[in-house]
Amino acid sequence: MAKIPHILLIYTGGTIGMVKDYKTGALKIFNFDKLLKHIPELNQLNCTISSISLEEPIDSSNMNPDNWVFIAEIIEKNYEKFDGFVVLHGSDTMSYTASAISFMFENLSKPVIFTGSQLPIGDLRTDAKENLITSIEVAASQENGVPIISEVCLYFEYKLYRANRTTKINAEHFEAFTSPNFPPLGESGVHLKFYKQLINKSKKTKPFTVRKHLDNNIVILKIFPGITEKTIASILGIEGLKGVILETFGSGNAPTDKWFIDLLKESINKGVQIVNVTQCISGSVIMGHYETSVELKKAGIINGGDITTESALAKLMFLLGEKIPKNKFKAIFEAQLRGEISMLE
Ligand code: ASP
Repeated sequence: MAKIPHILLIYTGGTIGMVKDYKTGALKIFNFDKLLKHIPELNQLNCTISSISLEEPIDSSNMNPDNWVFIAEIIEKNYEKFDGFVVLHGSDTMSYTASAISFMFENLSKPVIFTGSQLPIGDLRTDAKENLITSIEVAASQENGVPIISEVCLYFEYKLYRANRTTKINAEHFEAFTSPNFPPLGESGVHLKFYKQLINKSKKTKPFTVRKHLDNNIVILKIFPGITEKTIASILGIEGLKGVILETFGSGNAPTDKWFIDLLKESINKGVQIVNVTQCISGSVIMGHYETSVELKKAGIINGGDITTESALAKLMFLLGEKIPKNKFKAIFEAQLRGEISMLE
């Protein structure tokens, strides 16, 4: 008889475990043990569940790279003991955390499913129960004793996504996330369906390694019509700056003013890595497609293709932390590491 999967539930904070402060009316974190008491249905799942909580659960707006490493280390320490992991996390920065962890985990062969909710678990109309129960089911789904998922995913409102492809798009609807440039890996309806041809293959033959160096000396620079030379110069002049996510228009286009291109070139010559991503919710950067991106291409700017800003930020922190040699950085960034970017032609 097949072994029953053993799942580790990691509670980091977020709305899912919050209650309303009766005095102020604001949502605040409450005790994790109470959270589990709200869902006796968990006992009916075909797996065993252990849980662990951050000593001080947080609203995900307070997440930072140190917290990401802390969550990664919980999974690392428990990797052999469990068959799958479900991380309960606030939705606000879930795509950032889950993207970062996808890069930090090399040769992952077990499911790591991030989820949360728009309404607290104790709320009558809550979306938390479905999100939590199905995430655990996904983490426990196996075929011949082998997990179906062996990558970092995000499950929300009936859809299972590759985490590093997601972005939060709605603060009101239960459907808070989308994966604009890559289809869902699975869907929950009457049946729990997996689209196996889209799922990353397990790297079980190679040792699971957690890479923990993240360099946050970076900035996201969203350009806008009317942005001034002074603004660009002061941002690119930040002391110790090592990387820039340049959020451009459409398919990677930016102003052609000489001062703008010169400032970017100057930064690149100083060794700053600049990545071109689009401000559009979906689609891809195609450098050289319009005249307004030809100079960016010539300047040696990295093509972010169809990567999300969240994933680009995590990848940049990760690759800078890995101390990739300057002459190899561009090619490595443009390549696919964890399924986060469609291969460029
Ligand atoms: N502010 C909350 C958080 O991200 C929102 C949520 O959980 O959905 O922690």
